[in-house]
Amino acid sequence: MLSMELEIGVQKAVPEQLKKKPDQTALGFGQYFTDHMFIMRWTREQGWHDAKIQPYQNFSMDPAAMVFHYGQAIFEGLKAYRGKDDDILLFRPESNFKRMNQSATRMCMPRVPVDRMLKALKALVYLDRDWIPTAEGATLYLRPTMIASEPALGLRPSDEYLFFVLASPVGAYYPEGFNPVKIYVEDTYVRAVPGGVGEAKTAGNYAASVKALTESQRKGYSQVLWLDALEHKYIEEVGTSNAFFVINNELVTPPLGGTILPGITRDSVLRLAKDWGMTINERMISIDEVLTGAEDGSLQEVFSTGTAAVISPLGELCYKGKTILVNEGKAGPVAQRLYDELQAIQFGERKDPHNWMVRVA
Ligand SMILES: *Cc1c(COP(=O)(O)O)cnc(C)c1O
Repeated sequence: MLSMELEIGVQKAVPEQLKKKPDQTALGFGQYFTDHMFIMRWTREQGWHDAKIQPYQNFSMDPAAMVFHYGQAIFEGLKAYRGKDDDILLFRPESNFKRMNQSATRMCMPRVPVDRMLKALKALVYLDRDWIPTAEGATLYLRPTMIASEPALGLRPSDEYLFFVLASPVGAYYPEGFNPVKIYVEDTYVRAVPGGVGEAKTAGNYAASVKALTESQRKGYSQVLWLDALEHKYIEEVGTSNAFFVINNELVTPPLGGTILPGITRDSVLRLAKDWGMTINERMISIDEVLTGAEDGSLQEVFSTGTAAVISPLGELCYKGKTILVNEGKAGPVAQRLYDELQAIQFGERKDPHNWMVRVA
């Protein structure tokens, strides 16, 4: 179906359906959901149809729906920000829908019409605008998701899909300041293999990572640093965010080669650093290079990037029982500058040289 033909209906919640807003000082992450959601359906015959904003509600699904058995599920994550003068802003939302379409192609799922999805997203955020927190640093997190809904147990791509968008008010990631975290370098479990689905934002990647995460947390670390699956040697990602290093004043990050999620924050960080005249280098980095660099002082900073935290400085790494401090366990100047700059652009407080922000209202 041509995207032009996709009409978006709106069914507003009646006053009795409106929820009580949560305490803004205790939002956490992904615990509360707004009054409305967007939903649409896909069938092989009709394409995308039944697109509508409706009151937030359960859906009823056949227990044989293919997503429950074979896991065809992809998602995105982005935020709406409340800026100056009550502006409502989205950060690079088209990039999210384009990436969702890349994930869809890898998982044999249908692509979504990017222009229409942007329109639906803006309409949902505008309708639930009272849910965008006003507390400093707090945002409205948006979760576009697609799942296989056809009831059938034979293994093949589903012939029916549901796409929906949830909106969730979330608190500031660093309520007590920009804090470095401790990371466990994972040398047993792996996240993604060449030829696999590592570059798709698909639910199974998250399911497969939970065991390593919980084991690292039991040891006192907040996330794992993933190494490549073949040699357990090269840096891949940090938890569900991209890895960056400052080595001899160069900004270094592993190249996108199929096993790494192409982060939109990663891309934005590379562009800002280039604007500032930093040398940027997308290349393989071995864990040995990181350890040697920490010893001889050439490793200046390590941080990770993603929508939730924007920038997360890594102060300590544990590898095979050995602990190494990075920048004496403190956040470094490059991480700090990137964090300040990106946050200021996202909240509409600073010039947006790449026209990343999309205004909702
Ligand atoms: C979503 C995600 C990222 C970060 O992507 P952003 O677009 O910057 O939020 C990085 N790694 C993984 C595995 C992810 O799922």
